[in-house]
Amino acid sequence: MTSGVYNNGKRKSNGYIFIKYPGHLRADVSGYVPKHTLAMEMKIGRFLTQHEVVHHINMDKLDCRSINLHLFKNPKTHMKAHGSIHKLIKPLIERGIIQLDKEKEVYFIEKKE
Ligand SMILES: [Zn+2]
Repeated sequence: MTSGVYNNGKRKSNGYIFIKYPGHLRADVSGYVPKHTLAMEMKIGRFLTQHEVVHHINMDKLDCRSINLHLFKNPKTHMKAHGSIHKLIKPLIERGIIQLDKEKEVYFIEKKE
């Protein structure tokens, strides 16, 4: 058995890490599977179902540690979680914690003095 196929193939796409795993149910046309998918499958000891979605709790797509991954039953519940964090932004802006830098035209977090 050669180990190359499974050990060498890594690539980054769309901010995610992909691992070469030809034949996997979720492999793309080039045979790559998102690392977070494989990490979650290792954690739960089975393949993901068709509708399950792996979410990065801290929103860091590169952080595939088990503790940072949450499994949603379907895209709807996953999007609900994303919507809920989006709703938190308005109160943070109202409290001045998040502000718009009008020069750079990006939001930033107010530093404590
Ligand atoms: Zn998510």
